[in-house]
Amino acid sequence: MRLAYIKLAGFKSFAEPTTITIFHNLVGIVGPNGCGKSNVIDAVRWVLGESKASALRGDSMQDVIFSGSGNRKAIGRASVEIVFDNHLNKITGQWSSYTEIAIKRTLQRNGVSSYFINNLQVRRRDIADLFLGTGVGGQGYAIIEQGMISRIIEAKPQELKSFLEEAAGISQYRERRHETSLR
Ligand code: ATP
Ligand code: MG
Repeated sequence: MRLAYIKLAGFKSFAEPTTITIFHNLVGIVGPNGCGKSNVIDAVRWVLGESKASALRGDSMQDVIFSGSGNRKAIGRASVEIVFDNHLNKITGQWSSYTEIAIKRTLQRNGVSSYFINNLQVRRRDIADLFLGTGVGGQGYAIIEQGMISRIIEAKPQELKSFLEEAAGISQYRERRHETSLR
């Protein structure tokens, strides 16, 4: 599964609608300090459902909305959409037949947050379910940040087990078994 586009509007320093096209499997983002490189990664974490403002380097979730700069006023709404190429049908279930899967999240200043899969409004957990077992998502290993390698090395056995289960693609079954036992 390949990330093909990242579309941002009103997210952190990206006031204007901006589309980043990912042409190759290996891409580097370069630029001077403070130009917005890390904001791109924050956008990917955010659209996948990150709910901790601190993980996005903010104090509150509204901090992801463009707050104004020099000659530009603040914006009322942040939106991020990431589009995956699903030609290899890595996504299973309801969306498996789509060759592109677009995940979108929006947030208004009044705190209303919405999620969409291919423009159909869904719940946050539908996004998590979509990616369970693929390595993408909140508990995934697709985004390796500073400090994460040492977290893996120092992980307690239970935490290490969940990393391994996600890598083996079996965490979705564990999750479903857990749900069944709660019913
Ligand atoms: P470095 O090389 O230092 O890691 P970087 O390219 O990763 O820098 P970022 O951390 O992505 O930079 O971007 C920081 C910039 O984003 C700062 O200029 C900050 O003011 C701006 N920024 C962050 N949140 C907002 C917001 N809500 N509204 C407007 N600008 C914002
Ligand atoms: Mg940075």
